[in-house]
Amino acid sequence: MLPPRQQSRVGGLQTSLSLVSSDPRLSPEEPRSNSDNLHESPTESASSRETWPTGDAIAVKKMENGKAEIDIPEQSVIRRVSSADKISLQDIAREKVDIICEKMHHLPEEFLEELKMDLEEEFFILQKLVQSRSDLTAKTLIRAHRVQLEILVAINTGIQGFLHPSISLSQTSLIEIFVYKRCRNIACQNQLPADDCTCETCTNNNGFCNLCMCVICSKFDFEVNTCRWIGCDLCSHWTHTDCAIREQLICTGPSVKSGVGPSEMVFRCQACSRTSELLGWVKDVFQHCAPSWDGEALVRELDFVSRIFHGSKDTRGRKLFWKCDDLKGN
Ligand SMILES: [Zn+2]
Ligand SMILES: [Zn+2]
Ligand SMILES: [Zn+2]
Ligand SMILES: [Zn+2]
Repeated sequence: MLPPRQQSRVGGLQTSLSLVSSDPRLSPEEPRSNSDNLHESPTESASSRETWPTGDAIAVKKMENGKAEIDIPEQSVIRRVSSADKISLQDIAREKVDIICEKMHHLPEEFLEELKMDLEEEFFILQKLVQSRSDLTAKTLIRAHRVQLEILVAINTGIQGFLHPSISLSQTSLIEIFVYKRCRNIACQNQLPADDCTCETCTNNNGFCNLCMCVICSKFDFEVNTCRWIGCDLCSHWTHTDCAIREQLICTGPSVKSGVGPSEMVFRCQACSRTSELLGWVKDVFQHCAPSWDGEALVRELDFVSRIFHGSKDTRGRKLFWKCDDLKGN
C-alpha cells in the first residue's frame, strides 16, 4: 500500500468508498504531490510530534531521575542553590534573556533538568485531572463556553493547535473530539471508529484513528510520499516503519502472493495479524515518489529501505539491501 495521503485518505474520499479495489497495485491512484501537503497550515502545529509530552515520557524521565538520585542525592544539590539564585518557570517566561542565561550558567545541571520536568508535570497534572472527571460528557459539554471547550480539548489531546485562532471547529466537533468520537488530528477529523472498524486497535484505544495514526504508537504526522509509513494491504491500517522495526513486525515469512517459495521480508500488521509484502511496496513508493525527493530525502528513504531489508535471506531482498548501501555511499 502506498504511503499516507497518496490515497486522499485524509479529507478526501476514503478508499473504502471507492468502487475499485483498494489495492493500489491493481488500481494505481495518482500520487499526491508534496504541494498537497499541509505546509503553512496552522494544523501543522498540531502534529503529534509537537504535542505535550505523554504520561509515559514523564514516567520514563522520572525513572531516570530516580536513578540519578541514587548517585547524587537531590536534596544536597538543591541545598547548594541559594534561594536568590534560583529561577522559576515564571522567571524564564518573563525575564530578559541575558539575565536568565547568566543565572542558568551558575545553576547545577540537575536543577535545570528539574525545571524542565516541572513544566511537563504541570501539564501532566492538568491532563490527569481532566481525564479523571466523569462529569465531562457530551451532554454536559454542550453547556460549556467555547473557550472553555477549546482549553479542555487542548488539555485532553495535548494538542495546542485547538487554541489557535484560525482553527474554528464547531462546538459539536470539539465535543466529539473530547469524547473520542472524532479524530483529534485537525487535518483529519474523521468520525471514530474510522470506517466503523471493529478491530481491537480501533476498539480499545480511545481516540485512535486508523486513517491517520500509527497502530503501534497512536501518533500521526504530516509526512507524505515516504517509506516512513507502511500500510497494511488487508486492513489498510498504518504503521510507522520505525515502530514496525522496533516491534519486530518486519520479519521473514513465506511469500505473501504465493504462500510458498523462499522466505521474503514481510510486514505483519498488529491490527489484523495478517502479512503484507514489502518488495513491491518499496518499488511502488520509489517509482511514484522519488522524483519529488531531494538528496537528503533520498538518503533518508534509502535508509528506511536498507533497515527494512536488513535481515533478508532471499536473493531479491539481499540485492535490494546491497543496492541501497551502494547508493547511500555515493
Ligand atoms: Zn481497526
Ligand atoms: Zn485521523
Ligand atoms: Zn508509530
Ligand atoms: Zn492489517
